[in-house]
Amino acid sequence: MAITVVGSVAFDTVETPAGRVDRCLAGAATYFSLAASYFTDVRVIAVVGEDFTAKEEAVFAARGIDTRGVERAPGKSFFWQGSYLENLNEAKTLQTDLNVFASFEPKIPAAYQDSEFLFLANIDPVLQKRVRDAMPGVKLVGGDTMNYWINDHRDNLLKMLACVDILLINDTETKLLAGSRNPVKAARDVLSLGPKSLVVKHGEYGATAFFGPNSFHGNGLDSHHPFRAPALPLAEVVDPTGAGDSFAGGFFGYIASQPELTPAVFKRAMFYGGVMGSFTVERFGTERLRQLTREEIEERFAIFRELTHLD
Ligand code: AMP
Repeated sequence: MAITVVGSVAFDTVETPAGRVDRCLAGAATYFSLAASYFTDVRVIAVVGEDFTAKEEAVFAARGIDTRGVERAPGKSFFWQGSYLENLNEAKTLQTDLNVFASFEPKIPAAYQDSEFLFLANIDPVLQKRVRDAMPGVKLVGGDTMNYWINDHRDNLLKMLACVDILLINDTETKLLAGSRNPVKAARDVLSLGPKSLVVKHGEYGATAFFGPNSFHGNGLDSHHPFRAPALPLAEVVDPTGAGDSFAGGFFGYIASQPELTPAVFKRAMFYGGVMGSFTVERFGTERLRQLTREEIEERFAIFRELTHLD
């Protein structure tokens, strides 16, 4: 089964206590598609500028990712600069240049229309909604966003949230979006905006899934019973950028690889999300995510399992 993803394909400049990288290939859709590519077929919708060369294209090609929906436009690609010097668990944005994304009109290749899954990775919610509306055949829609869009584009974001089945955002974004700071009440507020399930990512502390009344029932999951998955305790986090998108890629990639989305599959997907996020943060940019094997992924999944096994 195939996943189509729309989101930023970008160049990032990132500073962390471990060092600094300048203009490395990044972006929400890039991290998502690399992570998901270990589980299923991935198709990308985005726009890039003249600075996106054959070298960057090769990163997608090496993982078999379909980039027919990545448009080339005159100008520069999306650029983001962030720092983790003050807080390794949350980026401080120093610069966001939308560049070619500012005037992007997504065109969806006909070959993408039979995708069963759609992931609306972080980008302008107007674009996310446009792509969702243009792909009526998908059976499950996931979504992500960030403070940039929650603070300044709230009305558009609310329209996007109304068409998402599973929303994956972090703690701070959940609190920004909701009226309450209590995690359970905040989750309830966010679920009332449209998503059937909400996965709240806690960075180095894992992730919690909350379910609305129209979501799962069974295997210990329902609207009164959230599910928590751990993150792997790591001795060194080199660059946290993309951990959330890689979590989403592992999570949706695993779901897409299974015949049916059952509560048990949802739980395992939370663990695969954590596995992919844990690899990403071990190196700067997408370096670690480019060269994994399925065996390494399964080995780490087994570590996650042991980490939480009680008896
Ligand atoms: P995360 O998984 O949350 O760490 O996502 C990091 C990626 O999001 C970076 O590679 C950035 O290029 C990208 N990004 C940062 N700000 C934005 C934004 N406003 N819209 C879309 N993508 C963004």
